[in-house]
Amino acid sequence: MSGESFQRLLAGKKALITGATSGIGKAITHVFLQHGASVVGVGTNQEKGAKLTDEIYSMGHKEAFFFEQCDVSSKAEVDQLFAHYFEKFQTLDILVNNAGITRDGLLMRMSEEDWDKVIDINLKSCFLTCQHACRPMMKAKGGRIINISSIVGLAGNPGQTNYAASKAGIIGFSKSLSRELSSRNILVNCIAPGFIETGMTEALGQEKIEIATRQIPLGHMGSPLDVAHAALFLASEMSAYITGQVLVVDGGLFTG
Ligand code: NAP
Repeated sequence: MSGESFQRLLAGKKALITGATSGIGKAITHVFLQHGASVVGVGTNQEKGAKLTDEIYSMGHKEAFFFEQCDVSSKAEVDQLFAHYFEKFQTLDILVNNAGITRDGLLMRMSEEDWDKVIDINLKSCFLTCQHACRPMMKAKGGRIINISSIVGLAGNPGQTNYAASKAGIIGFSKSLSRELSSRNILVNCIAPGFIETGMTEALGQEKIEIATRQIPLGHMGSPLDVAHAALFLASEMSAYITGQVLVVDGGLFTG
């Protein structure tokens, strides 16, 4: 592989990334663009989407990025999202399901609404988007689906039964889908981040962050870029023989 092609691992690829307006999804968007992909980035917040678009255009990626406003838990909105996506790009090479929320609380006090919201945005969204992505990827005889889970889906965490269920669900969903699609060369993998510095973890408060950080063997929280580089690997030809797997990006925290 020449130096130049190594620098642009996704040249000519078309990607759809949910939760692109902040944190991990934003980092994945930037890294994919730097590596030559064209991206439709998704979020619910139009203002954040417009800001991201300006940021990306000012970096010279004008033709390569579009923001789409969509609540990924809504079938109607996801249907519309994919209709808009295919108005812009003919193919879909990479789908990254990254949009996610937390609504923490002990099970005894958890409302049905907080349960449903987390399951719908984190897990049902994967069902909705993958249904749209499968057919064009099967037709193209190739594609990558990367679903962002969490080490909480592997280990569990008190106060996060809803979140853990959604993230464990993503793993089972992805492993099953990888088996449905492998004969068409569509690879489906998960990334399970640990503690990553984003708005989601900032909301935990300084004390909880310090306690969590003390448990991390590498001694510090991860950056969104750490996760984006794992996504780049799973989206690129470098991972051509990997499917149905969970790539843990957590500084050594989860030991199985
Ligand atoms: P974040 O900064 O809060 O970003 C979440 C993203 O999801 C935002 O872009 C948000 O966009 C989008 N989003 C939320 N609800 C949505 C909806 N209904 N429809 C479409 N988009 C929606 O969080 P993050 O830390 O980057 O998290 C990204 C993913 O990584 C999540 O799935 C999270 O569970 C997972 N993760 C994070 C960590 C961590 O330590 N940070 C660890 C493990 C796993 P809008 O604001 O525009 O709606």
